[in-house]
Amino acid sequence: MRIDVLSTFPEVFEPVLGVSIVKRAREAGLVSLGVHDLRGFTDDRHRTTDDCPFGGGPGMVMKAEPFFRGVEALRCPAEAGCREEVVLLCPQGERFEQGTARELAGKDHLILLCGHYEGVDERVREHLATRAISVGDYVLTGGELPAMVVVDAVVRLLPGALGAEEGAAGDSFAEGLLEYPQYTRPAEFRGWKAPEVLLSGHHEQIRRWRRKESLRRTKRLRPELLEGAELTEEDRELLGEVEEGGARG
Ligand code: SAM
Repeated sequence: MRIDVLSTFPEVFEPVLGVSIVKRAREAGLVSLGVHDLRGFTDDRHRTTDDCPFGGGPGMVMKAEPFFRGVEALRCPAEAGCREEVVLLCPQGERFEQGTARELAGKDHLILLCGHYEGVDERVREHLATRAISVGDYVLTGGELPAMVVVDAVVRLLPGALGAEEGAAGDSFAEGLLEYPQYTRPAEFRGWKAPEVLLSGHHEQIRRWRRKESLRRTKRLRPELLEGAELTEEDRELLGEVEEGGARG
């Protein structure tokens, strides 16, 4: 997969996307990441990427031309038949969720467009972006953090990005549930004990405990997720036990 980012602050990406799993995935050739300075796609002496809003009002608006030039330079040739998505990071876009990450991970090429200031000339959204994505109902200063969120969530889903021991399959949202609670050494910390079953070495009991805890916390913290989850007969049985047992099941 290839990911290109267009930003006026390209220097902020490497400290985040140059470490850990994304770094490993890049080194292994699973993804190639290009972060481009939007100013490189301007044609005036001052390398202008923003201007005053038509109609007046505060702040600056990012100009359409550098985004169009950048995308035109980076996009796959039409004849390549590449599965490509041009994503405008935008608080007014569709909400970014695990399903969105899965969908984007199935593409060959992503081009991420980062806005700033008051936002981006609307013609970018209308005539250039194939979708607009929001990372949540709040407004950030720029599209750089949202772009990094998207890259990280997508890259960890690429086959081979996570080692077998860190597989994404059991992660929260992967199957519509929250993940079970995790513990590590010491077995007792300040008087709080890790659940005994996890120290038992009994794989089947551990699997069942984890599934039950996953169902319990999903029901408690995000009950709406249970409505969309595909539950097995065992899941229903475990949920029954959770309900019968009240607060601790
Ligand atoms: N004036 C715009 C509005 O009210 O919708 C907000 C502009 S925001 C300050 C500047 C840029 O940050 C946006 O163009 C976008 O690229 C990015 N941004 C801010 N919040 C975001 C969010 N929740 N999701 C995705 N991108 C966001």
